[in-house]
Amino acid sequence: MSDLLWMSGMGQGLHGRSAAGSVRSASADNQALESRENIRELRHQVERLSLLNQALWELIRDKAGLTDADLERMAKEIDLRDGTEDGKMGGGAVTCPTCLRVSNAKHYKCLYCGELFAKPAFG
Ligand SMILES: [Zn+2]
Repeated sequence: MSDLLWMSGMGQGLHGRSAAGSVRSASADNQALESRENIRELRHQVERLSLLNQALWELIRDKAGLTDADLERMAKEIDLRDGTEDGKMGGGAVTCPTCLRVSNAKHYKCLYCGELFAKPAFG
């Protein structure tokens, strides 16, 4: 089927819409479908990572004699490394006070000179 026939057929199904509008509509439909597929795949990955994360934590907790409070304290410390308690890793830039190079805020020390950055509240 040629593109013209395909567009013509699409136009007939949409009662009064132009062929160009139908193409745009089909494109939007395809994008919506692709987005739904991407979301489904991401949900699957998040669920799998959550499962593995839980398994790792329970293994480490039991083997090392840690508690859930230890995990919460470390999560908060890491959260605060970028200067903002927002439940995320952050990732903003931080300028090293010693060598003045820029590192990612999620690192605890300068990647270039090894200078330790300011400790977070729970450091
Ligand atoms: Zn440095």
